[in-house]
Amino acid sequence: MSVKVRIPVPLRNLTGGLEQVEVTGTTVREVIDNLTSALPGIRERVLSEDNELNRFLTVFVNSHDIRLGQGLETGVSDGDELTILPLVAGGSEARGSFSAGRFDRYSRQVILPEIGRTGQERLENSSVIIVGCGALGTVAATALTRAGVGRIRLVDRDFIEYHNLQRQILFDEDDVRRQLPKAIAAQQHLAAVNSTVEVEGIVTDVNYRNVERLIDGADVVVDGLDNLETRYLLNDASLKHRIPWVYGAAVSSCGMMMAVIPARTPCIRCLFPSLPPAGESATCDTAGVVNAAPMVVGALQAAETMKILLGKETLGLVAVDVWTGAFSRLAVAPGPSSDCPACRGEYEFLSARFGVKTTSLCGRNAVQVMGSRGASLSFDELARRFAPLGDVSYNEFMLRFVVDGYEMVIFPDARAIVKGTGDESIARSLYAKYVGM
Ligand SMILES: [Zn+2]
Repeated sequence: MSVKVRIPVPLRNLTGGLEQVEVTGTTVREVIDNLTSALPGIRERVLSEDNELNRFLTVFVNSHDIRLGQGLETGVSDGDELTILPLVAGGSEARGSFSAGRFDRYSRQVILPEIGRTGQERLENSSVIIVGCGALGTVAATALTRAGVGRIRLVDRDFIEYHNLQRQILFDEDDVRRQLPKAIAAQQHLAAVNSTVEVEGIVTDVNYRNVERLIDGADVVVDGLDNLETRYLLNDASLKHRIPWVYGAAVSSCGMMMAVIPARTPCIRCLFPSLPPAGESATCDTAGVVNAAPMVVGALQAAETMKILLGKETLGLVAVDVWTGAFSRLAVAPGPSSDCPACRGEYEFLSARFGVKTTSLCGRNAVQVMGSRGASLSFDELARRFAPLGDVSYNEFMLRFVVDGYEMVIFPDARAIVKGTGDESIARSLYAKYVGM
């Protein structure tokens, strides 16, 4: 019987860094015996003096704890996976090996063989752009600033409101009172965290006219967006300029993350060729979100960004549900799809062939937002979602929704008039929040 043994990080000094070793045996005890003859020293770490499993270790065969079965006598079959899981204290055992200079700040990550001093220098010479500074963006920005990525540009069009504080970890009540734009508040907080990082906050609506300029010079783009429309635009721009980007999204208790490396991995359109019709995708503003979901996704995006900067392999598509604890890595195709327009170099979102278009209605203090995908909205469904959030009424021709001090008049073809503002970015933001893009 050949069994894969997954070696935990604290024991990898015995395997010369190998994460996994193939060993034969018919019971867990035999596997460990055979493992020890191949890699001396393992037995002392796994078994106690009386030859039983050490009490600070757990061993799983596939996903079953052997203590709940027959312990070390648990049988194994060909292809089984045996995982040795030591109890981890957390914290760090670094003892000042990088006690002087700038490496002191990063000593706890520099001691990781995956990073090291060379890796740290690469991070310090890198530039990352975070598009969208909500829950995902603030988590990723915090991690990357603390990790010492040299230059970080934050782009966001919104102001901070009280309901953002539940999950947008960089902001506080004072930012709401000061009515600060998210990009500026984030820049101020991050500068206080790490003054060696060059942080630049830009307050703007990302659209097909400015996206290429915004991502110019980035080594990686992090997606912290709240709508699919702009995400597909970002996909086009990143592919066109050969800049890797890291998709992330979270709603309810679930989230997804995937790195897109132009010409090497599938892009977001390879996986999802079309946007769902307007009004059909759940948004955090209508479906809600458990704050842990974007925190996990934002943290994964930060790790993936660091790996790209360090030239490591990326993970594929990761899906997580923080409520049920389900965590899955889904295998994606090994490369771009030949059917994907974006990967073939047809940037339909960038050329504005698709997408939501906005027009300021002069003299009316209103903006028209056009949903362009021939959608047909269900007013019953929209009204049910809007009812807890504001004043809503409708007939067969239009739906009127009063929220956040604005009035939105929505038509069945997904067109909307947003009254109470002449600012196209505010109108787009309200549309993205409530109707969904
Ligand atoms: Zn593609």
